[in-house]
Amino acid sequence: MTVADTVTIDQLVDWLGRFRSLVVDNQRYLTELDSAIGDADHGSNMARGMNAVAEKLETPETVDALFKTVGMTLVSSVGGASGPLYGTFFLRIGTTAGPVTVLDGSALSAALRAGLAGVVARGKAEPGDKTMLDAMLPALDAFDASLASGADLADASAAAFTAAQAGRDDTEDLVARKGRASYLGERSAGHLDPGATSTVYLFQALAGALGGLPE
Ligand code: ADP
Ligand code: MG
Repeated sequence: MTVADTVTIDQLVDWLGRFRSLVVDNQRYLTELDSAIGDADHGSNMARGMNAVAEKLETPETVDALFKTVGMTLVSSVGGASGPLYGTFFLRIGTTAGPVTVLDGSALSAALRAGLAGVVARGKAEPGDKTMLDAMLPALDAFDASLASGADLADASAAAFTAAQAGRDDTEDLVARKGRASYLGERSAGHLDPGATSTVYLFQALAGALGGLPE
């Protein structure tokens, strides 16, 4: 990895801004997915949460301060399951990254892994339960495998985005075992999971911020 292959706070803020734009632009679609197997609020939950984050984001001095604000804002502004789950994801990223101003690939990977562990600790979902985890876990596996093979952050983030999409697509056939969709039992099959879909936007946004998408 080259010296230039680090992530700055500005790029992390760009990640969050891109994630906000994607959830706001796709708000109706996310809500439509949630109306099939949930309570039709995932789009509005995510848009409200990320709009609240955008209002709070000044230029933070350190990575942990940035993600503490993001995580706490999501936990406090979103009533649904997704707010505390994404909130915990970002809070853990911050505490793992610490009071730094840049992250290299392995530090970013460790922070994202801690975020995922936070989602698991909070939601107790397992892979295959038809949740956001089914996009997040393959994305991080692809990110790490890509970095391990010598790829730069742009290519690793592109690989994570691709894997997140495949993971989301695979949720269609799954029967939900966590969250509101699990109340439907077998009838939850045949629909994409809304949270796995918003997690695709999370990784699309990361790839955009790290130069992994064609401009
Ligand atoms: P709510 O279910 O409270 O209405 P949202 O509609 O905003 O909240 O979010 C629903 C999404 O949250 C689901 O599609 C799923 O991906 C995710 N989710 C729900 N419960 C869990 C859990 N226990 N672990 C991980 N993700 C979960
Ligand atoms: Mg819902």
